[in-house]
Amino acid sequence: MPARTGRQFLDGLKEPREIYVGNEKVTDVATHPAFRGGAEELAAVFDLQHAEADRCLVPDPETGELINASHLIPRSREDLFKRHAALEVCAEHSVGLMGRTPDYMNVTFAGFAARPDEWSLGSNEAGAERIVAFQKLMRRNDLSLTHTIVHPTVDKAQGDVPRAGNDVALHKVGETEHGIIVRGSRILATLSPFADEMAVYPSYPLPEGSDAYALAFSIPMTTPGMKILCRDSFSQPKHAYDHPLSGRFDEQDAFVIFDDVEIPKDRVFINANLAAYNAVMRSSWAPNIMQQTMIRAQTKLEFAWGVASRMLQSINGKQPPAAEMLGEIWTFSEFARSAIYASEMQAQEYPGGVWFPDVRPLHALRSTLPYWFPRVNEIIRLLGSHNVFAAPTHAQMHDPELKPLIDRYLRGAGDVCAEERVRVFRLAWDFVGSALASRNEQYERFYLASGPRNRQIHEMFFDPTRANRLVDQFLTIEPQDANKGGEPCPKAA
Ligand SMILES: Cc1cc2nc3c(=O)[nH]c(=O)nc-3n(C[C@H](O)[C@H](O)[C@H](O)COP(=O)(O)OP(=O)(O)OC[C@H]3O[C@@H](n4cnc5c(N)ncnc54)[C@H](O)[C@@H]3O)c2cc1C
Repeated sequence: MPARTGRQFLDGLKEPREIYVGNEKVTDVATHPAFRGGAEELAAVFDLQHAEADRCLVPDPETGELINASHLIPRSREDLFKRHAALEVCAEHSVGLMGRTPDYMNVTFAGFAARPDEWSLGSNEAGAERIVAFQKLMRRNDLSLTHTIVHPTVDKAQGDVPRAGNDVALHKVGETEHGIIVRGSRILATLSPFADEMAVYPSYPLPEGSDAYALAFSIPMTTPGMKILCRDSFSQPKHAYDHPLSGRFDEQDAFVIFDDVEIPKDRVFINANLAAYNAVMRSSWAPNIMQQTMIRAQTKLEFAWGVASRMLQSINGKQPPAAEMLGEIWTFSEFARSAIYASEMQAQEYPGGVWFPDVRPLHALRSTLPYWFPRVNEIIRLLGSHNVFAAPTHAQMHDPELKPLIDRYLRGAGDVCAEERVRVFRLAWDFVGSALASRNEQYERFYLASGPRNRQIHEMFFDPTRANRLVDQFLTIEPQDANKGGEPCPKAA
């Protein structure tokens, strides 16, 4: 089955799985009120790839069947442009509010399958072969994956990664004829209720002695023993008018418990192998995945600018302080767009003939967006002021007695009617003030690790040659110039 339709996606969610939300164990994800809105929107994303086939679909390099370009292993800069177009279609559907639409994991696994050389390190050749085979299965069946790569926090002072003896973090506890048994927990699997498979792969490197935690695999969500504890639902699937965003785009986040789960051999990509675990994320994961994450984020920034502009138009509010804040959002959006463009234009070939964008502009964005997004929300709240709450519901707007009064007293500036003004301000509040909006801010702060952490690791991606040259011209003192002040540094012995 190549590129799936929305109906095929929804049918795939029917098999029993252990999903908990609120006080319930859910039997039918697609119709449960907590998940219905998200399920319908994700189905729409699958349909969209057919409606926008020119931008979204490409032939599978082996079978010729049409697959989403996010499954493509990029073999040139042109392939990255094709992938960009498909990622943008997906991002625009939820205006960037759904960060973990299936394209996120499609891009991730395309990147992994492109680098069997990396996955083979530490004598993990068998694991590398399996991940390549799995990616074929994934793209040919257009599977939807969730992932959980972070170890749960118990005692922050003990560090971020588990050491031998930690019985909370996911670890291997045994082997069977058919595979391995794993036990423990992981965070935070966004998209869980809407996934066909749960993927586990490395994040921060593990220390010596923690081999049991060095795991990578993917298993169907229906696998016995895997329990998915969803956070409270923020979905409001009542009326698109009242909740234009939070009625539709709650992608969910879940804590995952593996209660002695058997992982079949052919799905084990890293089997308690520290050398492989600590190698595979080092070079190509970041530039590959950040093409998806930043196209999504830039779409959301541009939407934010659009919302802010429409609010100001509704009340003719472009006085200098407001115009300045509006310009601030536009600047963020334009910097993000330019950084993505630069990363694609400066893309380079990696071993094995795969192409990934230049990581530097993308990493700069990764370090900065956790600060920009909260500021964007603050600006929209400041610009919105009390207007976000002078925004009646659909029922009030269509009440025969209230409607003429609302039309008269809640009209906007110029020719902006009450209907338009109310809808703009409801949209703005759903974007920055609703429960889902609050979750989305948390997402932007943490989904690719926190801002402080990302700022601290920029030196991994930075070539200091030019910076050193610029500084050294003031520090280098030739022996003949010693009388101008200063001493040449003594040569090291
Ligand atoms: C909505 C949401 C969705 C998510 N989805 C997924 C998912 O689908 N899959 C998945 O695997 N994970 C997911 N995550 C988890 C995410 O990967 C982690 O939240 C992220 O790695 C940050 O974890 P942390 O608590 O270790 O953060 P930390 O980096 O420890 O940050 C916590 C706090 O400590 C501060 N801090 C930490 N270290 C330092 C330091 N060295 N110097 C200064 N300050 C520091 C930070 O400023 C921050 O305030 C999601 C998280 C959220 C919030």
